[in-house]
Amino acid sequence: MEPFEYNANPGRVIFGSGTLNKLPDELARQKLSSPLLLSTPQQVDQANTLKDVLSGKIAGVFTEATMHTPTHVTEKALEYAKQAGADCVVSIGGGSTIGLGKAISIRTGLPHICIPTTYAGSEMTPILGETAEGKKTTRTDPKILPGTVIYDVDLTMTLPSGLSATSGVNAIAHSIEALYAKNTNPIISLLALEGISALTSSLPQIIDDAHSVAARQKALYGAWLCGTCLGSVGMALHHKLCHTLGGSFNLPHAETHTIVLPHALAYNAPAIPEVMQRLGQAFQVPGMEGEQDAIKGINLLLTKLKVKRGLKEFGMKEEDIDKAAEIAVSNPYYNPRPVEKERIRELIRRAWAGEEARADL
Ligand code: NAD
Repeated sequence: MEPFEYNANPGRVIFGSGTLNKLPDELARQKLSSPLLLSTPQQVDQANTLKDVLSGKIAGVFTEATMHTPTHVTEKALEYAKQAGADCVVSIGGGSTIGLGKAISIRTGLPHICIPTTYAGSEMTPILGETAEGKKTTRTDPKILPGTVIYDVDLTMTLPSGLSATSGVNAIAHSIEALYAKNTNPIISLLALEGISALTSSLPQIIDDAHSVAARQKALYGAWLCGTCLGSVGMALHHKLCHTLGGSFNLPHAETHTIVLPHALAYNAPAIPEVMQRLGQAFQVPGMEGEQDAIKGINLLLTKLKVKRGLKEFGMKEEDIDKAAEIAVSNPYYNPRPVEKERIRELIRRAWAGEEARADL
């Protein structure tokens, strides 16, 4: 076994169905009484449910959370929090709402309780990405990590199938990259493999039956583990590519992760034979029984999830491929296989065109 360092992120997790009802006890436990509730405009109903759970004892509700955490929205929310006399923030939603909660919390020191409703994993990380004047910057600080996370499976029942699929693959991407992170360790690898097994088996079931409670439970459990991986070790080529593509060509977050992941894995495969073997075993995609080929597994998973496979379907232009390859190799970062421009260009071209991943990059 290689020597390693392991840092556990502190944080309290409450998991189950109907766990939203534990919020009043959680606030009381932390001696908090005046929460500001956060949501997107699309999840106002869930924020109102939260208000009812708290019998209206809140500082207020701010429902303007939006993708990429723009600082002008954060400033508006900060002013609202101050006027309302909030003593904590409670975010209910996906990565966009949790991002706003983190942005408020790091600026004010207010405790942050997260109630995630997607599989993106932001709730388990000390990472915050923010956008100002069209530029996205990311920072990491232990103080960004939310103190308590309440996972309530019931809230994920309304997550549309398409978003469940792409959000779930976004989570799988965290675990795949955690397995070959520069600072990976045996504990994180255990969580990563368990998270991948849970998601690869449950996501196809959700596509068949979006109301399957058992599949939703398993997916949320997997997402928690994958989020823990993202929050604990460094990411590599796949996450850098998605950051570049999302930021430079305004591509949607979870969908971009879904399209790029098979190709990024195929690119790294020759440098990580042991990880590929473990991944092959962890992939529990129905139809893969007895087979241990991770690239075949991820292609099959995406077919079963009926997701869009090409970045061109989200408006990326063919002439942007060169530009994307240029940006992707401009800042050096750790990756198990050296990042070579021509091969990366071909990787991006395949993702743009919507081809299946092939192990010949
Ligand atoms: P999101 O939060 O943007 O949600 C997408 C849409 O789905 C929104 O309209 C939202 O209101 C809706 N939605 C969410 N849950 C729902 C539910 N259960 N039922 C019905 N509708 C629901 O999507 P996301 O993929 O979770 O988050 C993406 C953002 O999070 C990006 O900005 C990304 O950069 C960030 N992110 C950050 C980290 C981190 O560690 N800092 C990790 C992952 C993602």
